[in-house]
Amino acid sequence: MKRLSLLPRSGLCLSGLCLSIVWLAGCKPSEESNVKAIVGAVLIDGTGGAPVTDSVVVVAGSKIRAVGTRANVPIPAGSEKIDGRGKFLLPGLIDLHVHLGTTGGPGFRAADYTRGRVETNLNQYLYFGITSVRSIGTERDAGFAIRKDQRDGNLSTARLFTCGRGFTAPGGHPSQEVGDIARQPATPEEARTQVTELAAQQVDGIKIWVDDLGGKAPKIKPAAIEAILDEARKHTIPVTAHIHSLADTMHLVQNGAAGFLHMVRDTENVDPAFISRLRDLQVPFTPTLVRQELGWLYSEHPERLDDPDAARAFEPAALAGIREEAKAQRGSAAARELFDRAKRNTRQFAAGGVPIGVGSDGGSSSDLPGLMTHREMELLIESGMSPMEVIVAATRTGALALKKLGEMGTIEAGKKADLLLVTANPLEDVRNLRKIHATMLDGQWVDRAGLKLK
Ligand SMILES: [Zn+2]
Repeated sequence: MKRLSLLPRSGLCLSGLCLSIVWLAGCKPSEESNVKAIVGAVLIDGTGGAPVTDSVVVVAGSKIRAVGTRANVPIPAGSEKIDGRGKFLLPGLIDLHVHLGTTGGPGFRAADYTRGRVETNLNQYLYFGITSVRSIGTERDAGFAIRKDQRDGNLSTARLFTCGRGFTAPGGHPSQEVGDIARQPATPEEARTQVTELAAQQVDGIKIWVDDLGGKAPKIKPAAIEAILDEARKHTIPVTAHIHSLADTMHLVQNGAAGFLHMVRDTENVDPAFISRLRDLQVPFTPTLVRQELGWLYSEHPERLDDPDAARAFEPAALAGIREEAKAQRGSAAARELFDRAKRNTRQFAAGGVPIGVGSDGGSSSDLPGLMTHREMELLIESGMSPMEVIVAATRTGALALKKLGEMGTIEAGKKADLLLVTANPLEDVRNLRKIHATMLDGQWVDRAGLKLK
């Protein structure tokens, strides 16, 4: 498949016709001149349905045109044929919980947020097979500018969905880390005004942090939460909340929250009727277990930082910083108990039919973008989900949470051609999702080796 990296990418069109319109519309090859057929792979389409052997997936322009088997889907004459035999084809992965504009090293510094670093982070996700991310709560102007460029047709890195700046209490979590990038309205009226500002930015969602860090920080007041949810509803913007307690989660659901980050961690005694309600409403939870595990992961497993992909994808200073910080980390018994409880609740919610999504909190302190998305998938397996359930979490449920299921998240005709071709079976081991042979974004093969990662 070496030739894939030599293919022209959008913006590098070679035909005279394309060059003549490049000034107006970017360089988008016409659909008919740009048909690809991936032939012979085992298809795992993201719906959770049985894998399809000897599959054919036809891509025209930026979209999937046809999906089936070699027996029932004709390969269009003149299409570029890609041999998928011995490989596994999946939808591109979706990370629902990221923070952009960081080094991935320890700490979260406002000064790190530059357009260049946001682009670097998006490239890091793409390098690890994540074709879309939801940046949730700490976005500044550069992220919106990048999203606009992408929507204008210049999509060359992971697709960005952004929630702008999220809401917390005055002085509430995570303002101790991120400062005033977290909105801290003093009154419900101020919160409503700020939702209107976010609506004007056409955010893809709204973030609220609802967590008092075990009594150590102020928590946003119910009246402010209700004002945000009410105002967001008027603008039809989905609201996703960082939660810790079951009571807060129930209050948020009662008032129309569309999704959750982290898992209920104050109790395992959850009313089955509430779990059924979450299932019926199809409200996704993104457990983000890896954020908890990072409290001790590298002190116990410093060798994980020797991963060749870490050296390839991240700045040496960021990796050295994580290594240094890990020396002092132990992970208290209480923190480990909360982690185990979050895993048990993940299992309980998943078994009850609540949609579980994949989110890494990548870009927060020592949380390496993209690499930790894969660690999160391993932790969902440890929680008791099956590999197929975790693949659905990382694909279909990602699109569900983004309210984009009609456009992406599964390999079905008419959807965006965001694809991942791996060389070993992820149903045997989800770590095989890192054995990436090729990634397709918006119908274009990604030049993985050429991505600017530092
Ligand atoms: Zn986060």
